[in-house]
Amino acid sequence: MDAIRHFKGSAACDLKGLRTAAQEFFEEGYASSEANRTIAATPPEHQAEARKALLPQRTLPDGYYIWIAHLIWVERVLEIVRLDLAAVEVEGLLMLKQERSRFQSAHPACPHCGMPNEMHALVCRECMGEIGK
Ligand SMILES: [Zn+2]
Repeated sequence: MDAIRHFKGSAACDLKGLRTAAQEFFEEGYASSEANRTIAATPPEHQAEARKALLPQRTLPDGYYIWIAHLIWVERVLEIVRLDLAAVEVEGLLMLKQERSRFQSAHPACPHCGMPNEMHALVCRECMGEIGK
């Protein structure tokens, strides 16, 4: 497992930083569907500017988000095959599960289309279906 050795002593071992990266990763995914529609409707010369304004900014070095992407990959692979996990992966997966659960509690899924919405939204931001009460 070369990837594990490579990450030893880096982002993978900084659980506090990884927790922040996971929160930012979920927020980024949440913002991306609306942001991408707006960016696509923006003239090409202003798209980079729009992207910067509409998507949340990452606050940590790339290694944190690369590790989060690795954990998400491991999580998916574990649904179909058994893997031997390193301790940093097990800790990372537990943290990821907690943060996903926290994010989903704060952003309940629309009963019509499944897209996450703000906690007290009355209308789905994706399908415009009523979701209040
Ligand atoms: Zn919806």
